[in-house]
Amino acid sequence: MVPPVLPYPMECYLSGIIVTLEILSSIVLSTEDIPASKRYPTFKGQVLNGQQLWELIEGLEANDLLYYTHLLTGYIGSVSFLNTVLEVVNKLRSINPKLTYVCDPVMGDEGKLYVPPDLVSVYREKVVPVASMLTPNQFEAEQLTGFRIASERDGREACNILHAAGPSKVVITSINIEGNLLLIGSHQKEKDQSPEQFKIPIHKIPAYFTGTGDLVTALLLGWSNKYPDNLAKAAELAVSSLQALLHRTVDDYKRAGHNPQSSSLEIRLVQSQDDIRNPQVEYKAKKY
Ligand code: ADP
Ligand code: ZN
Repeated sequence: MVPPVLPYPMECYLSGIIVTLEILSSIVLSTEDIPASKRYPTFKGQVLNGQQLWELIEGLEANDLLYYTHLLTGYIGSVSFLNTVLEVVNKLRSINPKLTYVCDPVMGDEGKLYVPPDLVSVYREKVVPVASMLTPNQFEAEQLTGFRIASERDGREACNILHAAGPSKVVITSINIEGNLLLIGSHQKEKDQSPEQFKIPIHKIPAYFTGTGDLVTALLLGWSNKYPDNLAKAAELAVSSLQALLHRTVDDYKRAGHNPQSSSLEIRLVQSQDDIRNPQVEYKAKKY
């Protein structure tokens, strides 16, 4: 039998799946406390609960399909679901102790929580300690550390605090500094050693996009799998793909006669597959 051949690297599929999930979670988020211009006007379908997630895991196990190398989680809307995710991590690690768990601790943005406040302590006390890589935004990093981030230096310090709690890789996907964005990455290769840290400055596009956080996490996972000892390189590749995609998205809206600032933009994922597969590295990491 000929094994199936995927025409694109795995990370493309992964980001495809993640963005699909992002779309679903954004739809669920439409009831939450986020500005009307960034929300979907309506939503349909059901939200999976923890019990239903566990049933899927049991189905996979019954078919001997629970060997995974990576797990990525994004938006989770309830404590019960998050607790089940923790059980899933345990279960998967009992089968593959080397499982990499990449956690995007989606909780909020710009000073506002969009998940129930009870989730914060579960992330902080139970999830962060078992994560291999964490990809919070500025606000989420503050929630997880209890430490206010007002500067680049604070961002690095927040990474140190998070390493001490568990994950060896931390990427704060954006810190707002004087109207522009700064990604800060940190890799602690050995416990008790100081981490290797870097930053990538990103020019802020005057628009709001749906799905950027999920895409950047998926790309970081994909590229870190290829370059496990070089988080800076993985981040350069991820940011370069993402920025090419965001510029294509804005251009596409403008070409169709829309004002890109009037609503949340749907990212042009399929149209950007070459930038995802093979990005031109135009964003360079500066090591500290
Ligand atoms: P989240 O969506 O999880 O809050 P961020 O806001 O940190 O995550 O965005 C994730 C990534 O998306 C950032 O690293 C940044 O590169 C990119 N990004 C998001 N919005 C913009 C923007 N308006 N201009 C440029 N890059 C953006
Ligand atoms: Zn996010």
